Amino acid sequence: MDPLIVIGTGLAGFNLVKEFRKLDKETPVIMLTADDGRNYSKPMLSAGFTKEKTADELAMATPEKTAEQFGVEIRTGVEVSAIDRETREVVLGEERLKFSRLVLAWGADVFRPPLEGDGLDRVYSVNDLMDYGRFREALDGCRKVLIIGGGLIGCEFANDLTNGGYQVELVEPEGRCLPLLIPEPCSEAVAGGLEEIGVRFHFGPLVKQVDQSGDGVVATLSDGSTVEADIVLSAVGLRPRIEMAREAGLEVNRGIVVDRMLRTSDPEIFALGDCSEVEGQVLPYVLPLMAAARALAKTLNGEETPVAYGVMPVTIKTPACPVVCYGPPRGVEGEWEYERDGRNIKALFRDREGNLRGYALTGEAVNEKMKLNKEMPPILE
Ligand SMILES: Cc1cc2nc3c(=O)[nH]c(=O)nc-3n(C[C@H](O)[C@H](O)[C@H](O)COP(=O)(O)OP(=O)(O)OC[C@H]3O[C@@H](n4cnc5c(N)ncnc54)[C@H](O)[C@@H]3O)c2cc1C
Repeated sequence: MDPLIVIGTGLAGFNLVKEFRKLDKETPVIMLTADDGRNYSKPMLSAGFTKEKTADELAMATPEKTAEQFGVEIRTGVEVSAIDRETREVVLGEERLKFSRLVLAWGADVFRPPLEGDGLDRVYSVNDLMDYGRFREALDGCRKVLIIGGGLIGCEFANDLTNGGYQVELVEPEGRCLPLLIPEPCSEAVAGGLEEIGVRFHFGPLVKQVDQSGDGVVATLSDGSTVEADIVLSAVGLRPRIEMAREAGLEVNRGIVVDRMLRTSDPEIFALGDCSEVEGQVLPYVLPLMAAARALAKTLNGEETPVAYGVMPVTIKTPACPVVCYGPPRGVEGEWEYERDGRNIKALFRDREGNLRGYALTGEAVNEKMKLNKEMPPILE
């Protein structure tokens, strides 16, 4: 029997295989990964300095151990270059592997801002454990870090690197931090908390150029100002990996389009995790991919099971000013209302009918999360 092939050994791939093996111990499973296949929890990558963990310490298991634990074959350091739907094969350079069913759990690519200059080899991004290991190594002897991007990953690293003793400057063109996740007063609270521990923000300009300067770099911003640093961390966002799926003729949009069974436009090919789009939603977080892994494991075992996403708020790891936020869904019209006590803000988003459709909590207000969750509609019932 041709194996079930899973491309990707991130949280999506490993959780799927873990759930699948609870139901089916027989079907041969091959996991393919371009990285080193170590099992780790990606959210820990932006808390590693606070917790003083090296890449090796964040790794929870070697691929050999995981392969044995789940009774699967894991092939590491192999890059899938194409999917041949006619012959039902994945293409690894010269080699081809037949599949009975295929699961795409190949995550998202780091978006690289168009930068000029001769200092680009000092610009890092962290989207997996190997990146994290390289970045930590490069930080050796550094004091000052410039972060490009003030979204979830940029703000978490700003807090984490500051906790690790680095001096952080952060450039965010949108004019405030976490612009896609929380409303303005909450952004101000988070920026205030981070500034208090030493983070310096440059809101408004883009980073245009990074040039070598002594042992470090100098970045030139679009307003003509400059920032000196020893090293740069680029955190401007992730894009679901859709190209290879598109080339294989699968339907793609922002992510790889799947139905509630996580099935792509090819009935034997499935997708979950950061690369997937379910009913128009790309949710690049751990809770949705775990729900998807549980549902898909059942579907692959013959029991068609639609994925359901409950109430899944996003917790942002900025202990200088904790944040929990949830929605509102795209396209819902309504207004924010605020209860504020310094940096403790409870922001509620109500739609035109007065229904609670989203919230953002900062500081001590995060304690209201459980209560609010009870009032919130699930993301996908
Ligand atoms: C720094 C950071 C902090 C985060 N913090 C949180 C948090 O606090 N809470 C939260 O809910 N979410 C958080 N997230 C998001 C969350 O970690 C991701 O949603 C989740 O880990 C994605 O898992 P994945 O398996 O879909 O993708 P990935 O972990 O990216 O795995 C993709 C896999 O596919 C493989 N692959 C890709 N292309 C190929 C190819 N062509 N051939 C072979 N293999 C390939 C890769 O090698 C890898 O094994 C964070 C993300 C980051 C980067």
